[in-house]
Amino acid sequence: MAINVKPVPTLDPRINEIRDLTARIVNKEILPYERMLANRWKRDASEKEKDEAKARAATIKSKVKEAGIWAPHLPPEYGGSGLSFLEHAYMNEILAYTPGGAALFGVVAPNSGNQTILLKYGTEEQKRKWLVPLTEGKMESGFSMTEPDSPGSDPRSIKTTARLENGEWVINGHKWFTSNGFRADFLIVMCRTEGAGRDTGRMTQIIVPTNTPGVRIVRGVEVWGRPSDHCEIVYENVRVPEENALGSAGSGHKAAQDRLGAGRVFHCMNSLGQMWRAFDLMVERASMREVHGGVLATKQFIQGFIADSYIDIQSARLMTIRCAEMMENGGDPRTDISAIKIYVPAAYQRVVDRAIQVWGAAGVSGDLPLAGMYMGARTLRIADGPDEVHRILIARNVLARYGSGEGWDFGN
Ligand SMILES: Cc1cc2nc3c(=O)[nH]c(=O)nc-3n(C[C@H](O)[C@H](O)[C@H](O)COP(=O)(O)OP(=O)(O)OC[C@H]3O[C@@H](n4cnc5c(N)ncnc54)[C@H](O)[C@@H]3O)c2cc1C
Repeated sequence: MAINVKPVPTLDPRINEIRDLTARIVNKEILPYERMLANRWKRDASEKEKDEAKARAATIKSKVKEAGIWAPHLPPEYGGSGLSFLEHAYMNEILAYTPGGAALFGVVAPNSGNQTILLKYGTEEQKRKWLVPLTEGKMESGFSMTEPDSPGSDPRSIKTTARLENGEWVINGHKWFTSNGFRADFLIVMCRTEGAGRDTGRMTQIIVPTNTPGVRIVRGVEVWGRPSDHCEIVYENVRVPEENALGSAGSGHKAAQDRLGAGRVFHCMNSLGQMWRAFDLMVERASMREVHGGVLATKQFIQGFIADSYIDIQSARLMTIRCAEMMENGGDPRTDISAIKIYVPAAYQRVVDRAIQVWGAAGVSGDLPLAGMYMGARTLRIADGPDEVHRILIARNVLARYGSGEGWDFGN
């Protein structure tokens, strides 16, 4: 089923145009070839199937470039289309209708986050050496922050150290869940560069080429019982030049926050696109499948699933758009970012769960995208800050406001 995208009367005409361009590519160029495209990653696909899928992907990418919406997060001088924050956010909702769609539009995590950070914090030399090849697809990268021996939800506890010695950083530490670790040509590694204190001004992100002596990729950590490229990596007396620090020493935590702020809105818009797909699939199946003398859509249990999913999607979408608009208008979006980071993945999980239920065994099979979506939704409740940490942040902001003698203004 194609995604049904019509102009939204209250939206900027350029955003409507981008939504429309994206939907045309999704509907015409991607959805009919979705299963074929999946062969790019399938371990049991033949070489012929892989080549066919890669050729199709290349055709789609050239159509995206022709439409002027390639790599929305990058400015034209780095090969992107330089979309504004809101244009990019609305585009994500549509492209995520098809799983893996982002890569076909030039947005590949964790490269895209690294590109954004290199753009903002990189020197001209770092941009030339790392950002340009990354945007040209000649290099791959990873972001190495989380550690097995310290809680990722408390970034001030990071143990990996980097000390300066004769113009070089000497890095020692143990990371895991560094996504894209096997393919990465370089890693942006979050290090403690000063002392043992807990303040955030002691962290620095350092660019480490993966082939530097002392970088040891231990394994890809299995995720949901499957092999993955989320890698465990040991850094042992790894030496890189002092100029590989990204931004000034001590700016690492701030840079990580920058990466996550807008990124969380983009992730939520992606989740909304996937919820939209799950909803379409659920309604489609409910309208066709006959059980006990009638199609599923005539059963009240299933009507309840449809209504609850509708409510989940609309509420998640409105919260996300409110947060995006607040960011765009220069407001303080911190409470709303935490709210959507909790609410949207949970709503996404509920919507996909119902769609799986309606499809029965087919719902958990590899024939539909629902099983992958379910795992993705559940994982999102941990990655980029677990639910509990964001609940604490919301409560802290609310209590501070009331503590200062002011109530919460839900209109602003
Ligand atoms: C598929 C996947 C890909 C990832 N990719 C990357 C990557 O590319 N690079 C990278 O650096 N990291 C990556 N991560 C790691 C991710 O960012 C961390 O898992 C996340 O930050 C949580 O850290 P943690 O796993 O150490 O959990 P912990 O910090 O140990 O937290 C565990 C649990 O404790 C609870 N908790 C935490 N704090 C509090 C509190 N204050 N009060 C009450 N309860 C609390 C929460 O329930 C939380 O889920 C990835 C993770 C996954 C699953």
